[in-house]
Amino acid sequence: MPQSLDPGRLTDPALRPVAEKVLARRRLEAEDARALYASNDLLGLGRLAAFANDRLNGDRVFFSANQHLNPTNVCVLRKTCVFCSFARMPKEEGAYTRTLEEVYAEAEQARNSPTSEFHIVGGLHPKLRLSYYTEMLRGLKQRFPHIHIKALTAVEIAHLARIEKTSPREVLLALQEAGLTSLPGGGAEVFSTAVRATIAERKLTGEEWIAVHREAHQLGIPTNCTMLYGHVETADDRIEHLTMLRSLQDETGGFLTYIPLAYHPDHNELGEELGRVGSATTAYEDLKNIAVGRLFLDNIAHVKTHWPMVTPFLSQVALSFGCDDVEGTVVYERVYHEAGAQTQMHMHYADLVELIRAAGKRPVERNSLYQPVRESFDPAEAELVPA
Ligand code: SF4
Repeated sequence: MPQSLDPGRLTDPALRPVAEKVLARRRLEAEDARALYASNDLLGLGRLAAFANDRLNGDRVFFSANQHLNPTNVCVLRKTCVFCSFARMPKEEGAYTRTLEEVYAEAEQARNSPTSEFHIVGGLHPKLRLSYYTEMLRGLKQRFPHIHIKALTAVEIAHLARIEKTSPREVLLALQEAGLTSLPGGGAEVFSTAVRATIAERKLTGEEWIAVHREAHQLGIPTNCTMLYGHVETADDRIEHLTMLRSLQDETGGFLTYIPLAYHPDHNELGEELGRVGSATTAYEDLKNIAVGRLFLDNIAHVKTHWPMVTPFLSQVALSFGCDDVEGTVVYERVYHEAGAQTQMHMHYADLVELIRAAGKRPVERNSLYQPVRESFDPAEAELVPA
């Protein structure tokens, strides 16, 4: 049953005109997003976002059986991305770079499991060439022909283009030829020039990030998009960021899902500078960002909650705040655990199904392209699915 919405029952009067627009399927403007961010009626905001999501996805909640692979944590931007806890200098303690054989050995976890996607991201290594990645993708495809490969952020694509003295388009074409299915949405952070100058001064600009994704979409490579919130950005920075994502989606339709990512302040320079070590974003902030994303990005079909960052408990609540998509089984989560995430590194398939079902939603296992893989989950059968 589609949810109903009565704007008059919202306790914050500032939300009522926004609710009228949502009901009439009219696009939200920046001032509407400002009202949403300024409101303390979190439940009203959630009701609005849940209504918008229900109209798009009904009670279906998507998840994937995926495995993360991080070939290297060595990164040339280690000193300037001050929010990052994952990267290391080449000779720094904890630095690692996997050989292809090591990557394949870790990928063997996918054998005899329901895994349908490899999610591959890492640092910007000064010496790893494009051929390392194309060979990796070919090797994975050879070993696991049925598994989709979602690999390399726009930042990694641009870095490889620089190393190879070519264009991001040529890098994308080479990866596509080697078996790439889609791109993850990382590296976007917040597009504002001022914010980037503070938290990631040498990273790709917002416009450059958008240009790589545009190129990918034009080549038929769908991508995800993200926003890292909860550091030094303002509500207006977030709105500008969401507006840029929405504009590209109007142009290309290539974004599959939007993932709001919560900043974790442990083990990075920014967290220390802000005096925030040990205090990640609040559940209030997390739910608000999910709801605003769902309402503002009216042209992106899915909004994903990333349980390794916000906990499986909050991800379950997020399913009533506009999310219809949950991060998958993951297997090894390194990026946010380096930043102090206290969650487990792996979610069992049956636990994900149960998390979704217990929230009153209908689980749908999907592949990287959001095509349903499995929609029927007999409780006894789900127990038997390998972890
Ligand atoms: S955020 Fe990405 S580009 Fe920046 S230091 Fe970390 S791994 Fe490198």
